[in-house]
Amino acid sequence: MNSATLPPNSLFDDLVQQDRQYIWHPYSAVDSPAPLYPVERAEGARLHLSDGRVLIDGMSSWWAVIHGYNHPELNQALTEQVDQFAHVMFGGLTHKPAVRLAQWLVEHTPDGLAKVFFSDSGSVAVEVAIKMALQYWQSKSQTSKHQLLSLRRGYHGDTFSAMSVCDPTTGMHHLFNQVLKPQIFSQSPPCGFDQTWQEHYIDDFRQQIETHHETLAAVILEPIVQGAGGMNFYSPVFLKRVRELCDEYDCLLIADEIATGFGRTGELFACNHSGISPDIMCVGKALTGGYMTLAATLCSDKVATAICQGEASVLMHGPTFMANPLACSVALKSCQLLVESPWQARVANLAATMKQLLAPCASMNHVAEVRVLGGIGVVELKNPVELAKVQDKFVQAGIWVRPFGKLVYIMPPFVIEQADLIELCEQLVSVVAAIHD
Ligand SMILES: *Cc1c(COP(=O)(O)O)cnc(C)c1O
Repeated sequence: MNSATLPPNSLFDDLVQQDRQYIWHPYSAVDSPAPLYPVERAEGARLHLSDGRVLIDGMSSWWAVIHGYNHPELNQALTEQVDQFAHVMFGGLTHKPAVRLAQWLVEHTPDGLAKVFFSDSGSVAVEVAIKMALQYWQSKSQTSKHQLLSLRRGYHGDTFSAMSVCDPTTGMHHLFNQVLKPQIFSQSPPCGFDQTWQEHYIDDFRQQIETHHETLAAVILEPIVQGAGGMNFYSPVFLKRVRELCDEYDCLLIADEIATGFGRTGELFACNHSGISPDIMCVGKALTGGYMTLAATLCSDKVATAICQGEASVLMHGPTFMANPLACSVALKSCQLLVESPWQARVANLAATMKQLLAPCASMNHVAEVRVLGGIGVVELKNPVELAKVQDKFVQAGIWVRPFGKLVYIMPPFVIEQADLIELCEQLVSVVAAIHD
């Protein structure tokens, strides 16, 4: 059947039906009855569905689309590169997009990060970070240092090493406990972002690192914002103390900035809230402005030098599509657009607007807490939402919001129009209010 000849609604239903026949979606069953919405095109902060409905985007496609969809300059960066070459292998060859992007990253990430390893996705960037940490200690002949200390409620990706450092409960470690490497976990930071610091907040972390440092290669955490593991915001002093304790107990610090990087928390990188530099840092998600899949793992000269002086003498990783030129070109343009834009003012405005307009949720009986940091607004409910039901309510309200568990949250593109932002927040509040009924 020629789907182009179908009236819009049939095309919509047809796609959904064929999708269900063939495709897995994230964390889903193939026989899932959960609603699906085909997108025909997207522009700015709006998604146009195949049946003609238009949704205001509250998700930035999972933190990534900071400049909005279908951005003329990002489109241009891609088409210019595709006219040169779409890809070449990165073994023995290099190209301008990779070199310029690596240079940008080293110049704009926290001081001391000096070398860049490109990979395909966030999870792989985390694998590479862990591999760097393990090879670092191997090359110093301290092979007993092979474990990781992570925070409860953390999320670091879906591959096996990444899973091993995700929250043991929400990361469903019991499903894979035969193969997951046992790691060490400290309590999730018990202090909100703005909360007055008290030294006992770091007690549990200190105790874990004190007890286990002889087997610890590194601490891995999401700085300031724990994302997919609970949308938890914590005090910059906590991160400062972590840095100090890593130095004291000779552990590397891996900052997973895959969600927090590129301005989302109000600083260009979340580590800047604490004025610290990690030894290893992962970026992804918004790196390409949400255009392509690309991630990077940065490390200090200290880490790089040690690895290269070790027994292996090389970093043992090399993805086929490493430093893909299309992805690097669009990433470089996205990074340049970001720092040339008034992103601080935009993120501050997102924060101020969400704080004001999401506030009515705080007094609802079924809401536990409302919190906002930078371009992230969270309404935490007392009970998990029924995703299938509530998803359709959001779509009927003209907004794209995808809750998980007890969390209804938004992180709109930085470029969202103020009227759309207001509509997004107001519709979110009315859908959340109706969840109760
Ligand atoms: C999304 C995410 C990852 C995994 O990235 P993928 O590109 O989905 O593999 C890792 N760490 C954090 C903090 C993330 O938010």
